[in-house]
Amino acid sequence: MTSLRAFLETLPDRDVFRIRRPLPLDYVPTALVLELEKREKHPVLYIEQPEGFDMPVVANLFADRRRIARMIGAESPAQFNEAWLHAEENPIPPVVVERGPVQEVVRTGEEVNVGWLPISRHFQQDAGRYIGSGILVCKDPDTGVRNLSYQRLQMKARDRFGASLHSRGHIWEHLQRAEVQGRNLEVAVVLGAHPAVHLAAAAKVAMEVDEYDIAGGLLGQPVELVRCRTIDVEVPANAEIVLEGEILAHTHEDEGPFGEYTGYATHRSTRNVFVVKAVTHRQAPIFLDVIPGYSNEHLLLGRVAKEAHVFQRLKEVIPNVRALNYPRSGTHFHAYLSLEKTAEGQARQALMLLFGLDAYVKLAVAVDTDIDVFNESEVLWAMATRFQADQDMFVVPKVFCNRLDPSAREGVAAKLGIDATAPLDWDVERTSLPPEAIERARSLLDEG
Ligand code: MN
Repeated sequence: MTSLRAFLETLPDRDVFRIRRPLPLDYVPTALVLELEKREKHPVLYIEQPEGFDMPVVANLFADRRRIARMIGAESPAQFNEAWLHAEENPIPPVVVERGPVQEVVRTGEEVNVGWLPISRHFQQDAGRYIGSGILVCKDPDTGVRNLSYQRLQMKARDRFGASLHSRGHIWEHLQRAEVQGRNLEVAVVLGAHPAVHLAAAAKVAMEVDEYDIAGGLLGQPVELVRCRTIDVEVPANAEIVLEGEILAHTHEDEGPFGEYTGYATHRSTRNVFVVKAVTHRQAPIFLDVIPGYSNEHLLLGRVAKEAHVFQRLKEVIPNVRALNYPRSGTHFHAYLSLEKTAEGQARQALMLLFGLDAYVKLAVAVDTDIDVFNESEVLWAMATRFQADQDMFVVPKVFCNRLDPSAREGVAAKLGIDATAPLDWDVERTSLPPEAIERARSLLDEG
């Protein structure tokens, strides 16, 4: 039911690009995804025979907004935000069950060998083969509250990965607390759960919130969990593969470089170490990869939940904000918002609020509601025709920012707000067509 493989079966054939011949895993899946993107195609890749491995690889699952909407039962990308917020407000806690397919095969101790997993080398600059799709599940050593997050894992030996607990998120905080108690941090790495669990793991929710509860809210039913065999952590019963282990306390080793979402290789790392104590999996598992770097799927996975969350906060303060988009071209650094302006200065208020809500954003553009913020060319047209640089923009220098921005200096960056909304008393008329003419044209084209 709520599994990755069940979701894959619901996809129409045209949404899946199957590769039946043997395919090398070094660089080729990344190249395939990036070449497909140039053709504006975002199918799921299903690599039946990765060269040298005995397990199929699925990638590019999160590359398309329409598919992402379907993962949580939303009809369209536009309804995704609503469905997401409903889930955040109506979380459903998971249930622990006795057994699940993810433990059909259990390997522990000397039997552990992660070299068997079809892990890709994604970019030439990467230090090695990386898992970017793994959900790291752990518990707050002080409160017991669970956390789900993504952290890159560099394969180093049959039972050892380098890890970077980037952005100092909840898992990084958990490790600090474990270290104070003189313990390692127990962590399970979930590979290939139902996509809704993967989306929930990308959510930036409060530390007191268990992301499994959000996943339950998204699915409309509790996520079924099983207890790990060697650590005190619970994992989705229907997942494909789980690595059970520990992030070592007070232990650091080189990790990286790694091709990040900015499109650049980063040498920044918290240099942690994850040691695997057990591998459990289904019979004949599927390996889910997320192509990292500047790929659509990596950006969307990091973005869609944030978009819903930030959009909601914006609307709470300025109810006439209508839409928000983080465009692909700006990685996580640019944002476009539209608003139904009722007073001058509202666009600036919205832009300042957005900068306050999301430290990643360094350029934000406000437009009127006749502009589709998901259509970048329309946003640029609004800038071309409704914006004057000496009056309609402002710069806030030296604000805390994301350190992966290669142009940032010492962790601070400038924020640029652009008000490309028309003045309220504008006497300019946009060219238009009667709706009947548009309808006529559409039906002609559909017939043709
Ligand atoms: Mn959390």
